[in-house]
Amino acid sequence: MAKTKIIIDCKNCISCSICVQACPVSALELSLFGKSGKYPNMFPEVMSDKCIGCGICVKNCPMDCISQTEE
Ligand code: SF4
Ligand code: SF4
Repeated sequence: MAKTKIIIDCKNCISCSICVQACPVSALELSLFGKSGKYPNMFPEVMSDKCIGCGICVKNCPMDCISQTEE
């Protein structure tokens, strides 16, 4: 499998944590990430050493914040 990189564009993130719960290898976690308007200031971060590039988080984000590229 080609090594892929997960990119999270936090500007539309609503901190729902669906991606965190969907990840089969617990490679995502919500962490504090500065201040931003009306939603809580928790956004997902990828632990790239754990990520297996399955793309489940990409498919499950309701706000299309997550994308996957080849490294
Ligand atoms: S691509 Fe798969 S393993 Fe990587 S962060 Fe997303 S759900 Fe987790
Ligand atoms: S699923 Fe999408 S909107 Fe929800 S926390 Fe993850 S990146 Fe943010």
